[in-house]
Amino acid sequence: IVGWVRAAFAYAQAACEVFPVYNRLMSHFRVVESLKAVLKREQATLVELQTSAKVCAAALATTSESLDYYKKEEAQLQKTVDDIKELDSMEDLPTQQGRALKLHIASDENLRNQFGILKKDIRKVLDRNQDAVPLHKFTKLYEDVTHKRLSLQAYGVKKLKVILALTTDICVIEYNDFGDDLVKTVVDADNPYALPKYAFPCKLCVGKSYDSHKELTSHFQSKWHAMNVYLEHMGEPPCIFDRRSRHWIETYDADNQIQYTNRMTGMCAILSAITSRAVVVDKPMELQADEVMLETMFPIEVPPPSSNDGEYGSLSSEWQEVADEGGNIYYHNRLTNETSWTLPVAPYATEWQVCLDDATNCTYYYNPSTGETSWTLPDGTDQGGGSIPPSAQES
Ligand SMILES: [Zn+2]
Repeated sequence: IVGWVRAAFAYAQAACEVFPVYNRLMSHFRVVESLKAVLKREQATLVELQTSAKVCAAALATTSESLDYYKKEEAQLQKTVDDIKELDSMEDLPTQQGRALKLHIASDENLRNQFGILKKDIRKVLDRNQDAVPLHKFTKLYEDVTHKRLSLQAYGVKKLKVILALTTDICVIEYNDFGDDLVKTVVDADNPYALPKYAFPCKLCVGKSYDSHKELTSHFQSKWHAMNVYLEHMGEPPCIFDRRSRHWIETYDADNQIQYTNRMTGMCAILSAITSRAVVVDKPMELQADEVMLETMFPIEVPPPSSNDGEYGSLSSEWQEVADEGGNIYYHNRLTNETSWTLPVAPYATEWQVCLDDATNCTYYYNPSTGETSWTLPDGTDQGGGSIPPSAQES
């Protein structure tokens, strides 16, 4: 019993000691409870704030979007204002600024020459781009076509429009409301198919000119030119190029071979059947008509038609006309590298043509009259002018 009482006493004592602790704990608990409630409220307000922040962010996004839009609008308007100012000054060009610029260009011989070249280049850019080029693409196309930089500063001009306004004999700018202004070739009403005049004229083919020696060399391989070489040989006047194809313009591929591009469709026809027998592209109908015309106008047997398969005339197939630095014309043999001041008149020279084998990328020789092919140039065709034609030897 004593033990039990002791234990009870100890228990009571412990309870007495625990009670205040319990009390304190309980009060702390209440504080924690109230803090929890506060926290809940705070969390609720936080969520509220977060949602309102989201709304604000969305609003900010739309605002900045519309701000961007207005900035773009402003830039567009600024451009329009610039254009209007430009147009105003363009109206002055023929009188004040234009006259001053023209005088400035005319006063300096070097500048005058450069301006002449620039005009030819502009004409060429338009010619190669179906006679119309968007103004904003003009500079790039100019550099693509001429491989030169368009330096307007050289003429004391800052804007392309100003320099183009000085070349109204060549091109005009066609303005429209949507800003995609077009630079277009001016068509000479008296001579709508006039050929452009470049620095390298063919001395035989009246009216034909090129702006690089390479292009002129390419022209020397054409059938028309071969015809004129023949006509000159026979003491007859050359056939004049008095018409320009309405749809087809002469262009050149990367190797400076003649090809034809259709102005309407952008389609390309490669006529250089000399270099590769595999390139059998139908000639444009209009050019076939040209050749029919050529044949009816000049029903001559030289050059002999080589089975009408698009090969060039025989005169030009092996011997090509080349101009030296002084502009003197001489003849160069493609096969043998021989040169001559006069065109060698040897019918056999036309028999073997150089062709390119697609599979091996090697050149071989092809005789259109006999249909023979050979990897090496058959004997007797190149050395010792006046020897017997190979066809005669073979048969
Ligand atoms: Zn020519």
